[in-house]
Amino acid sequence: MTKHIFVTGGVVSSLGKGLTSASIGMLLERRGLRIRMQKLDPYLNVDPGTMSPYQHGEVYVLDDGTETDLDLGHYERFTHAVLNKDCNYTTGKIYLSVIEKERRGDYRGKTVQVIPHVTDEIKNCIRKMVAPDVDVVITEIGGTVGDIEGMPYFEAIRQFALDVGKQNCLFVHLTLVPYLKAAGELKTKPTQRSVRDLREIGIQPDILICRSEREIPDEECKKIALFCNVERSAVIEERDKEFSIYEVPLSLADNRLDQLIVDKLGLTQARPLDMSDWRAMLDRMRNPAHEVTIAFVGKYIKHRDAYKSVYESLDHAGIFHNTRVRVLRLESDKLIAEGAEQALAGADGLLVPGGFDKRGIDGKIEAIRYARETGLPFFGICLGLQCATIEFARNVVGLEGANSTEFDKDTPHPVVCLLEEQQGVTKIGGTLRLGAYPCHLKAGTKTRAAYGAEVVSERHRHRYEVNNAYRERLAAHGLIFSGTSPDGSLVEAIELADHPWFVAVQSHPEFLSKPMRPHPLFREFIRASLDRHRAKKSERRSAGAAIGS
Ligand code: GLN
Repeated sequence: MTKHIFVTGGVVSSLGKGLTSASIGMLLERRGLRIRMQKLDPYLNVDPGTMSPYQHGEVYVLDDGTETDLDLGHYERFTHAVLNKDCNYTTGKIYLSVIEKERRGDYRGKTVQVIPHVTDEIKNCIRKMVAPDVDVVITEIGGTVGDIEGMPYFEAIRQFALDVGKQNCLFVHLTLVPYLKAAGELKTKPTQRSVRDLREIGIQPDILICRSEREIPDEECKKIALFCNVERSAVIEERDKEFSIYEVPLSLADNRLDQLIVDKLGLTQARPLDMSDWRAMLDRMRNPAHEVTIAFVGKYIKHRDAYKSVYESLDHAGIFHNTRVRVLRLESDKLIAEGAEQALAGADGLLVPGGFDKRGIDGKIEAIRYARETGLPFFGICLGLQCATIEFARNVVGLEGANSTEFDKDTPHPVVCLLEEQQGVTKIGGTLRLGAYPCHLKAGTKTRAAYGAEVVSERHRHRYEVNNAYRERLAAHGLIFSGTSPDGSLVEAIELADHPWFVAVQSHPEFLSKPMRPHPLFREFIRASLDRHRAKKSERRSAGAAIGS
């Protein structure tokens, strides 16, 4: 019988429910349990695909092309759970389905209401996760208890526990225990308040996970237990992690959260927990032997969550090379004002990530030009590939005014243009080229060597592509099309031969990287950047020695 864990949040948003849920998934998986993970988001967008990264952070894409919340990225990086369209529902998606049913007449004349129709729809979404080979489903409820828009979800999970039996469900509530400097005290009242809100709607939490910047003394834990009606042993501290998000599962394991869950849900088949490899990985992260600086030229650089998976992937590659990866976030405009040489002086590599619309494009192109001409390792992702193609067309092939039709509809040289299937598309939501597509890699290329495979699968999220009408001319000047769709009709990867590492892909490899299994392209990009760093260092040393002599 599949068991259910519901993770809710209280007091404030941004407590790290996603990371906590992912960590629970990881701990249970490491105890030999088969898990699935799901997030229910109370906002009205059908999916986060139409939201600005400023609003909601990165849009994470699954193999099946579902555009999801970035927390699903944590789920995939922390666990092996299979994620698909059923793993992220929003109020928009749920209402869309209810309204479609109403229009079809499925409700047979009934008045369609939040309770029971919307709540039933939510319960169905949760039920979709249940299967004979699933021991535990972890469902995270977005938002905070007390939010108006979250009400139907809390009501639905309350009912769900009654439907499947309370002994098969566990309510885990994440709260904040703030430290008040002026009083010199940790405050438990907000936690009590948010548990009261939960109980008012009929949910008694089984486990409280308390986020705190300091150690919560036993006395305070006892107080929380008493006022919130949970056992002392079910009050778990989750201290802020300054070093890395990958510490979260370890600290929860140290506080015996996995055992608590196993006991409460009667998961007798669970095996003992072994976190030794994870611990070793964190030790490596803490004591890196080297350091590289990667210049990152993007539009949303002020917003850390906007490129979450890319930053994580850089860290994963760093762990592999025993290297701390410093990210130098560069505003495109600043790069133009300062000049690429100056702005990139301290960089060992350049990364241009994905993005939309023309703001900042000139700075990206200029940075890429500098990298191409000076041998600075370059890695382009999606828009990064498109910018590299434009740069090459303009400055190597000599096609003046070359551009993407996304940025200049009347360009004389549309080297990047709309996918054929995209012409005539008018709706924004869910209409990009999305999800996993196979890519065939050309023998003898760096891209193929990095992957060590002839055919690979990568996730996509784009509308534009390299214009085939220009491929011959670009190739004649040395641009290598190292990856294409299996029928050769779409460019998937490009590279340059006479350069240490100049590789760009149309896909988003950052969605497939894991802490202990870095993505091969990130791994090789960091390797090249590290080589460059070492070469520069020894150059400086010998210059110093020459002056000294
Ligand atoms: N804006 C470009 C396109 O739609 C690139 C998209 C991206 O980088 N994700 O093709």
